[in-house]
Amino acid sequence: MNDVLYFNGRFTTTAERVLGVEDRGFQFGDALYEVFKFSGRKAIFLADHYRRLERGLAEVEIRSPWDESRFFAVMRELIERTAFDDGIVYIQISRGEAERKHFFPENLEPTVVAYSRAFQFPDAAKKENGIRLITAPDLRWKRCDVKSVNLLANALSKKKAQRAGADEVLLVDDGIVREGGSSNFFVVRDGEVITHPLDEHILPGVVRGRAIGLAEQAGIRIDQRPIAVDELIEIDEAFITSTTMGVMPVSAIDGHVIGTGVRGAVTSRLQRLLDADEVADAAVTQASSAV
Ligand code: PMP
Repeated sequence: MNDVLYFNGRFTTTAERVLGVEDRGFQFGDALYEVFKFSGRKAIFLADHYRRLERGLAEVEIRSPWDESRFFAVMRELIERTAFDDGIVYIQISRGEAERKHFFPENLEPTVVAYSRAFQFPDAAKKENGIRLITAPDLRWKRCDVKSVNLLANALSKKKAQRAGADEVLLVDDGIVREGGSSNFFVVRDGEVITHPLDEHILPGVVRGRAIGLAEQAGIRIDQRPIAVDELIEIDEAFITSTTMGVMPVSAIDGHVIGTGVRGAVTSRLQRLLDADEVADAAVTQASSAV
């Protein structure tokens, strides 16, 4: 089935081939992306995704193609035109199209692509049973805080995990656990939630930020500090966060069972808080008629 596609200011479908071969996103990976979730046709945490995208564009000097109200209007129309109620929207903004040279022209017209996709979010059983991880060296570049489309290292590492019978890879650098191949990573130790601090080694995940805020509000202690890979044998719970997985328990890492092997109390509490937060955020976004 063809999905609804927004391309450079107009709506079409993914059946149309829209990109030129000299688009810099294609040639150089000179592009950023976002993925947000919609549920019952309501966008979730859309303002957070917009803010991260804008910050990233400024960091890599790609001109933003929209202001906040235009962004919200485009995403609202994209969801309205979509045939299904639940899914994700993938957005990509490249620097634009130009003759292939490393030196990019100033002020290129960015290429903007956004399309909706149906998505099966984890059901109750998956959210209870969790996922298995393996560790692997972090081979990515040194600006992982920017959501660039250069995902080769992530893709190869995730494939390694899949071949090992795991669901996600945990990227380790200098003995420190950075994050998942497409998720942020948290552990729980003695009732305290620990996750890598925000810096150039990790993506500032939208759900990461939400989970931390929810934990703080609930009076759960949070420590944002690097986690040594050696510490993983001493933890009580572990979970990952992402737009598509929400808060997802980790049952084992490299075959080593975490805690008792069943979903921990802190993890399941944060799952419930995040579910409620998604509903509340979608309602606020709708009411403000932003989307
Ligand atoms: N880290 C990486 C490397 C990711 O690719 C993702 C998902 N895109 C995340 C973390 C989670 O981010 P979010 O919660 O915004 O989906």
